[in-house]
Amino acid sequence: MTSPAMSDQESSFAGVFGEVCEPRIREILDQYRKAKGDLAPPMDPIQLASICNCRVQIVPERGSHEGVLIRSRGGFIIQHRRDLHETRKNLTICHEIAHTFFFDSSSPIPRRVRQHRQEESLCFSVARRLLVPEEPLHKMFESLWSREQPLASLARLSNVFTCSLEIMADRLTTDTSLLRDELITFWRVKNATGAKKHAETTRSFNYSYEHFRKESRLSPELAVVFPPYQRSKHLYGQVWSELVDRLLKGENPEPATMELQWKRRVEGRMRQERIPVCVDARLWAKEPSQIRLSSLDNFGFYGVISVVRRLES
Ligand SMILES: [Zn+2]
Repeated sequence: MTSPAMSDQESSFAGVFGEVCEPRIREILDQYRKAKGDLAPPMDPIQLASICNCRVQIVPERGSHEGVLIRSRGGFIIQHRRDLHETRKNLTICHEIAHTFFFDSSSPIPRRVRQHRQEESLCFSVARRLLVPEEPLHKMFESLWSREQPLASLARLSNVFTCSLEIMADRLTTDTSLLRDELITFWRVKNATGAKKHAETTRSFNYSYEHFRKESRLSPELAVVFPPYQRSKHLYGQVWSELVDRLLKGENPEPATMELQWKRRVEGRMRQERIPVCVDARLWAKEPSQIRLSSLDNFGFYGVISVVRRLES
């Protein structure tokens, strides 16, 4: 027998997020504000966990799980690996908190009442909102974001909220429309030392298009008005090679304007178009941990984060 709530399995991501997750997020943040006095960053994940009847335990590294949610009498235990980078630890705790939304915590031992095929993605979405709530994000964005220095601003905001640059990029572009016309991209090269050396000496610091697509952040508005960014491999290739050329020459292309040309399908025909874009990029080799997906990587990543902006033509 499937209980009615179990039919969430069939609901859309947005449906479950709006009906189940958003009210819970609001509730948790309200309680957090009452307990702490305000919603000032950085958010305290232990406090967030305790609001949701979760005790947090640190465990030695084992297997590949960064965190796990365990049902216990009267609530949950969240266990996370000892070796997580702080930003990853914060995300992991918030992610496990989100899994509690799928349980009924009023029974002596929480009982699963909900399932969804995209539970993992839903939990990451929730985690981002707990770690970087809308209200303080808007405030901090107003005081810390500089259009002239988008990368430095991105780093500043991430530090203030003790979250990764990726999470902040998501919050600024995908989840909110704070950055309406910017595209934040993460270019990675595996194996920090080897790859860096290789890149500097042979200039074969290449990118993986698939990886790029997955890692790039595009604000919804930009996705609508600027579709070639989404699909033009050619454009990515040009942006990338120009960036790398300048970086390897020791130039700092922040900000740099370049005109790019690509083909666009108009009325069934391919047409050449030129469009000026502004590109910001910086090599983050000095602090690879900041752009790691997780501190569990043995190799570490380093790469270039770029902010690509369309200029009014
Ligand atoms: Zn999970």
